[in-house]
Amino acid sequence: MGQSKRGVKNKKPRPTSATRARPVCELCAQTGGEILWRDKRCRVVLVAEPDYAGFCRVIWNDHVREMTDLSAADQRHCMRVVLAVEQALRGVLKPHKINLASLGNMTPHVHWHVIPRTTRDAHFPNPVWGKKLRAGQRGAATRLRERLAAELLNLL
Ligand SMILES: [Zn+2]
Repeated sequence: MGQSKRGVKNKKPRPTSATRARPVCELCAQTGGEILWRDKRCRVVLVAEPDYAGFCRVIWNDHVREMTDLSAADQRHCMRVVLAVEQALRGVLKPHKINLASLGNMTPHVHWHVIPRTTRDAHFPNPVWGKKLRAGQRGAATRLRERLAAELLNLL
């Protein structure tokens, strides 16, 4: 046969886009938190962040990488929901500031973080992903989930 010892036959085929296992997207596989509101296009979840009562995410239901992958109407819908969450959090928690963030570096599936901040929270004035400066404030507002869900129903 004349094949050398280093013949191609013994090489494992390189993974191609067709054979490489796609990593499971966390936001496709799971709700991502406790559902406060949802429709066909997106959902609002309350995230279990011990230092941040009221930390919410707006998650687009379809696996879409960037906001500009959405149609203009869907972009408007997404932002309308993000702003409703901001409004609901302001009404219920009276935070010092709301932080809005869309990163998706770890999970490239469109989602917005809507984070109520106080001047004494664990990271203030740093972003919540920055250096922690003090112990976080534990203990959520009473019936936080129900109150936020009711506000969202009102606003959306
Ligand atoms: Zn996804």
